[in-house]
Order: sequence, then C-alpha cells, then structure tokens
Amino acid sequence: MNGYLLALDQGTTSSRAIVFAADGTVRGQAQKEFAQHYPEDGWVEHDAGEIWTDCLALCRKAIRNAHIDAGELAAIGITNQRETTVLWDRATGTPLARAIVWQDRRTAERCEQLRHDGHEPLVQQKTGLLLDPYFSATKLAWLLDNVDGARQKAEAGDLAFGTIDSWLLWKLTGGRVHATDATNASRTLLFNIHTQRWDEELLRLFNIPASLLPEVRDSAADFGRTEPSLLGTPVAVAGIAGDQQAALVGQACFEPGMVKSTYGTGCFMVLNTGEQAVASENRLLTTVGYRLNGRTTYALEGSIFVAGATIQWLRDGLRLISHASESEALARSAGGGKGVYLVPAFTGMGAPWWDPHARGALLGLTRDTGIAEVVTAGLEAVCYQSLDLLEAMIADGAGKPTALRVDGGMVANNWLAQNLADILGVRVDRPVITETTALGAAYLAGLQAGVFPDLDAIASHWQCDRDFSPSLLEADRQRRYAGWREAVSRVCSAQAQPEKTPV
Ligand code: ADP
Repeated sequence: MNGYLLALDQGTTSSRAIVFAADGTVRGQAQKEFAQHYPEDGWVEHDAGEIWTDCLALCRKAIRNAHIDAGELAAIGITNQRETTVLWDRATGTPLARAIVWQDRRTAERCEQLRHDGHEPLVQQKTGLLLDPYFSATKLAWLLDNVDGARQKAEAGDLAFGTIDSWLLWKLTGGRVHATDATNASRTLLFNIHTQRWDEELLRLFNIPASLLPEVRDSAADFGRTEPSLLGTPVAVAGIAGDQQAALVGQACFEPGMVKSTYGTGCFMVLNTGEQAVASENRLLTTVGYRLNGRTTYALEGSIFVAGATIQWLRDGLRLISHASESEALARSAGGGKGVYLVPAFTGMGAPWWDPHARGALLGLTRDTGIAEVVTAGLEAVCYQSLDLLEAMIADGAGKPTALRVDGGMVANNWLAQNLADILGVRVDRPVITETTALGAAYLAGLQAGVFPDLDAIASHWQCDRDFSPSLLEADRQRRYAGWREAVSRVCSAQAQPEKTPV
C-alpha cells in the first residue's frame, strides 16, 4: 500500500501543498503567495489561471521535497478557500473572468434587494446560510450578467461553474471531472443541505442555469485521476472539503458536541451537530461538516472577523510590538482582567451583536495603563469574542462542550490558550499537528484510498500537544465577561443586542 497523501491547500492569500505520511507527519511541503486584485472599492478578485499554475508547481515541489515519486502517493486531497466563484469555458478550460473572492462585496445591493423582497427565510431554511454577498450564488449571477456573452454561453451549456476545489479538480483531471463535495456545495446558496441536492427554486431565485453546476459527491469519494502528464503518473483525487470543514476533520471532531476553533487572521468556530441540521436563531451558519458514505454530518459555524488581525494592528498600526509573539510575555507581565478592554470592531461587530456600523474602542484606561495592558486587552478580546460565539451556539441548543480543539497561528501563544480556557470555562486542547486544514484534506483522501479504515483510525492519530484547564474563579470569569459586554454595548448601537437578529 502506498501510504503517502498529498494535500493541496488553496487559501485566500497563499496556496500550499503538503505530503503527509500515513501517521500524519509532514514529509515535504511547498507554499506560494499569489496576487490579490482589488479593481474597485469592495471588490476582490483572484486569477484562477494563476492559482492553477501555482498549485501544479507546488504539488510537484512538495513531492520533490518529500523525496518520493508521485507513484508512492495513495491519493490527493483538496481543501480550499470557500465560496470563491470561478466560471470557465468547458471547451477551452479557460476562465471567462477573474474569480470573485468570498470577501468581495459587489453584490451587497442585490442581496439587500432579495432580503427586502422577503426571500431570506426560504434561503436560510434550505441552505442554512444568510443572504449575504459572502456566498457564491450572487457572485455567479453577477459574472453571467456582466461578462460579455456569458449568459448565452451558459444557456447553451458551454460553461462550467465551480468553487476553487472544482476548478482545481477540473484542471487536475484534464477537464474530465466536473465535481465538488457537499461541504463546498453547502456554501453556494444553491444547495439544499437537507435534501443534499441543488435546489431548483434557489436556481430560479438567483437566475442560475443548472447546466453550470458540478456534480456533488461525498467529501471522501472517487473524484477521478490526475492527467498522467501532470505528475508523471496518474494519482487518485479522493478527498475534498472547504477549509474550515477540513480543519474539523483534521481536528478529528467526529462526535456531536465536539468543536474546533481556528485562530488565524480571523477566527472560525465550528461545532459538530451530528445528523441534525440545527437552525440558528443567532445568525450562526448551519452548514455541512462533512459527508461520508452518503451520510451528512452537520455543523454550526460562527466567525470572528478580527482575531490575529488585532495583533497585526498592535504591531503594524500602533507599533506597540515588533513581533506577534512578543504579546505573550507582555500579557504574562500585565496579567488579564485588569479592566482594560479593546473592542476590535474595525469592521463592525459580528455574532451575537451584529452591528456593521460599530467601530473599535479602547476602554477602562487609567494612568498606569501601558503597552502591556493594551496588548493584553487585544488577546483577551479574542477570548471574549470566542465566548460570545460559544454562548450563541448554546443559545441555539448546543450543549457546553467538554473541550475546545484549537489551531491556527495565534494558538502558539500559551498565555492566550490559557486565558481562552479561563474565559470559556472549557478545557482548551492544542494538537501536536496544527496544520489541521491540510491534514483534514489528507485524512479524507486517505479514508477513500483505504489508508485509514474508518474515522476511529483517524481519531486515534489526534495527539494533544498541551491542554489548558480553566483555573479562574467563576465569579472572576463572570466579572470579566460582564465588563466585556459592557464595553461592547458602548460601541454598538442601542438596537444591537444579543439574542436579537441583525438588520
Ligand atoms: P492566516 O492563516 O489567517 O494567515 P495564521 O494561522 O498563519 O493566519 O496566523 C497568523 C495570525 O496569528 C496573525 O494575525 C498573527 O498576528 C497571529 N499570531 C501569530 N503568532 C502569534 C502569537 N504568538 N501570539 C498572538 N498572535 C499571533
């Protein structure tokens, strides 16, 4: 049995390929940043052609760096930035325009219109999502309506739509396979997460011809084999999942109630809700966690817009620190709970406050507040916001988890991890391998290729590097969190309160 697995991790700012051995250790990798295009205010585009060229080169390089032949790979897994929308010509394999990235807000008005016309309840019921430009449907409609001749070609069946996973799969298989997995499909606004099918009513609502759509397969499935000339030998593509869902798998959160949180630039908390698609009343997203053997595991997802980005701001904006890692020693010296609150509402407040107009603030300053206290408040804000999300999940009916599995660049910070446990009142587990997104893609591919017999085999690979147990008195925890709530209420408008749905 060839035991190596190649994960292709196509992110928002960089692409990576990692060769894993069957025990989850990294054997070789390669990474490259790529161009971001901002043609107009609020627009963000990627060149799908560049992404493909990079990804192919990275796969070859990672295989070289691992000192193996492509023939020793059991399979390839793909994980990707979600929602980003590619439209290409089936005959030539060329994109019709640059891909519209998930961050792009150009269809905000269209979403507003649809909300105004009363379509959101239907959309939320079927897709678990909200009417927001974030998701693919309005981006795809925009391309069809604004690229010359696109709609006619689409009606004639000459075009293909895909999120980045589908695009890469198409290219890897030499144009033979046009497919996606259920997690990526669940982010398009066109996929009914209950029936697990593209939804005709939604296709009509967004004016999308069905001929554009990829076939939706399980997250571990036969996605075809790579064109032999690409890697020197055909390799099976056997796993696909969107980045946050891949991290859920990489963290082996396979039981209902298990939750992972990724702390990078922003933060994404994803809770496994098992076979139940929990409808959120706090504007969290209901999404597909993964689909295996035709069985869907659902998840609730909440996001914090600004997590590590606060630390970047303290470093690059205020120049209070020169490296993100300095924040740990500063927080240790200052200590938490000193009454200084940094509310990083740089782009508004998310769950459960939902005030897009809120802006940041620093509160509770005294004469002896110094750099250490302000930096500490930046780290504490990430913890308080995590509790905001967890409380929203609990308000939606989730039980309190026994532990939170964390990953991402920020969790190298031991002070942050401990404070997170203290504020949540929940144990925080940090795994040995924090490349969880790529690892999840590799696991899915390995599952299909027979490297792992089942999810239990994968779960047994999960290894804790360090766990952080809550050690704060409950009264202190309550006091600190009450201070946070008070601080947030100062920056949000009077209408924005928890438990209320946003505008
Ligand atoms: P992304 O994948 O979103 O680019 P990463 O997972 O690489 O992000 O994490 C990088 C983020 O983590 C940056 O915003 C950085 O400020 C923050 N970060 C990195 N190391 C630390 C640290 N030791 N303490 C606090 N924040 C950190």
